[in-house]
Amino acid sequence: MTEEADEQAGPVARQRKIIHVDMDAFYASVEQRDNPDLRGKPVAVAGSRERGVVAAASYEARRFGVRSAMPSVTAKRQCPDLIFVKPRFEVYKAVSQQIREIFAEHTPIIEPLSLDEAYLDVSENLQEIPLARDIALAIRARIKEVTGLNASAGISYNKFLAKLASDHRKPNGQYVISPEMGPTFVEALPVGRFHGIGPATSAKMNSLGLHTGLDMRSQTLDFMQANFGKAGSYYYWISRGIDDREVRANRIRKSVGAESTFAGDLTDFDAMAAELQPLIDKVWRHCEDKGSRGRTVTLKVKFADFELISRSRTVSGKIDSRGELELASSDLLRALFPLNKAVRLLGVSLSSFQEDQSDDEPQLDLSI
Ligand SMILES: [Mg+2]
Repeated sequence: MTEEADEQAGPVARQRKIIHVDMDAFYASVEQRDNPDLRGKPVAVAGSRERGVVAAASYEARRFGVRSAMPSVTAKRQCPDLIFVKPRFEVYKAVSQQIREIFAEHTPIIEPLSLDEAYLDVSENLQEIPLARDIALAIRARIKEVTGLNASAGISYNKFLAKLASDHRKPNGQYVISPEMGPTFVEALPVGRFHGIGPATSAKMNSLGLHTGLDMRSQTLDFMQANFGKAGSYYYWISRGIDDREVRANRIRKSVGAESTFAGDLTDFDAMAAELQPLIDKVWRHCEDKGSRGRTVTLKVKFADFELISRSRTVSGKIDSRGELELASSDLLRALFPLNKAVRLLGVSLSSFQEDQSDDEPQLDLSI
């Protein structure tokens, strides 16, 4: 082999073993665990039955087509017997902490995606269990024992496929995608099912004739980059079952935000300011949990005609209290008045974190 060829081949990458653990219908399952009256029944965890959206639906509710992120009113229409339960984030966080402790018995390389989902790199695992599928079995059994809840797991050689795999045998199941299976597994997958491809990108792909993983794979890297920018090369590689992203423990978010859509459009400043309060609470709770302090507050506004605007303010020091966050948010809101149209959604986010490193993590979305 010539030196040049050797260089092109690069260092031989170690085959990673990655597990994506995902709790089944997490919030709803916790509610059914803690209240026997809810067991076997269609349950939706939601802030309100009149307004807001479903944060989680039990499997009984899913049979009626109830899904998370569905407006509560739609959910009630789909399933008239649906029981609405208010979220109890303190309890969910405590359970989340328990499952993270279980993960930590196997590996220190844990990347939580939310309270109920995480990637684990178990290439080197603390209990020296040779097969990742056996680690997943052990973790799921222990989660059941400690919390009484079911988890599903996906096992693969990269994050992208591990996440796909955890959905494959849900609920209370697990699935392995081996390196041999990877490329075939993504062939038939509709582009909208690829993690990281949202409705807008999916529609754009369809308009370019890209409907499945196989369609994507038939394109050149240049084509994908020309049409989708930086993300294009990610799509190019994942359509081949290749994803080199590492599992990153304790990653730092670029921004943290929360938003909510109102039941009825609002025109009044006081009513909107009141709607901001729970959003500010959520963002601030995250800052306190992580001990992180941001400098830039952004207010997002969607009008009744769906026009979307955002307004930001960066403070010279840092936002060090909930009061400062509230002040900045309500100032940004006040500056928009007088309004010439009604508002259907408000969002608050905080960015420019002190310990911010250049990092391309997407925004952490606390919407429920
Ligand atoms: Mg889940």
